[in-house]
Amino acid sequence: MRNVLITGASRGIGAACARLFAENGDRVFINYCHSENAARSLFDELKDKGREVMLLQADVSNSGEVKKMFNVIQSQVRGIDVLINNAAIAQTKLFTDITDEDWRRMIDTDLSSVFFCCRAALPYMIQRKSGRIVNISSIWGQVGGSCEVHYSAAKAGVIGLTKALAMEVGLSGITVNCIDPGVIKTDMLSSYTEEDLKVLADQTSLGVLGTPEDIAHAAFFLSSPESSFITGHTLSVNGGA
Ligand code: NAP
Repeated sequence: MRNVLITGASRGIGAACARLFAENGDRVFINYCHSENAARSLFDELKDKGREVMLLQADVSNSGEVKKMFNVIQSQVRGIDVLINNAAIAQTKLFTDITDEDWRRMIDTDLSSVFFCCRAALPYMIQRKSGRIVNISSIWGQVGGSCEVHYSAAKAGVIGLTKALAMEVGLSGITVNCIDPGVIKTDMLSSYTEEDLKVLADQTSLGVLGTPEDIAHAAFFLSSPESSFITGHTLSVNGGA
């Protein structure tokens, strides 16, 4: 049984990943930060189905909390076989209105968290000479998003980290890949109106928005033995945006 850590799994794409991996026989560590009720209800749902799941509260933007989270994991199992770095925040602001605090919070949550979790997960993967890391970036990390410059910068950083780390750990049998979702129906879009969402859907070739499950299936593939020759890649899952 693989041990899979999914950061930010209380809601949205992370929760869809937790369901998919757990239902396919993996032991899933569900990380959350603030949404305890949502995380508990996902945990109960999967436990009731007989799945192997554990809840881990930690703010992954904080290096010390990530270390503690991995200590708890290592008290239960030897290490993590699959790491899905999914936790993130978004914020829409004019560039000139972004404060130092907004900038730091964005970079810490959306980029440094990936560094902290990869660094903590890798010693076990390197020792075993196998492992899968999937980082969730964004279409804005590829092309940039107006009024989301700090988010776009952090997500572009995730793509750069992915490519460089893939080169560094490839000989240890570890793959590191990235997914850049297009617009996916989750709480992250709560500030968008129905009209905004229609415009965004119309900008895709398929004319629809994505679902959390669309991203979960891509993450599952990039974590599977079938993707063993793919590394350093950024997979766009965006309906042809
Ligand atoms: P979401 O519904 O807003 O959920 C975000 C998740 O991240 C929540 O589970 C939240 O946990 C967790 N999180 C945030 N800060 C955290 C922290 N410091 N420590 C631990 N967990 C934290 O977002 P989503 O749409 O599912 O997004 C998932 C990923 O896809 C993100 O990386 C996002 O950037 C990316 N993405 C999304 C879209 C989209 O259209 N939805 C598009 C492109 C990329 P708590 O609630 O427990 O705090």
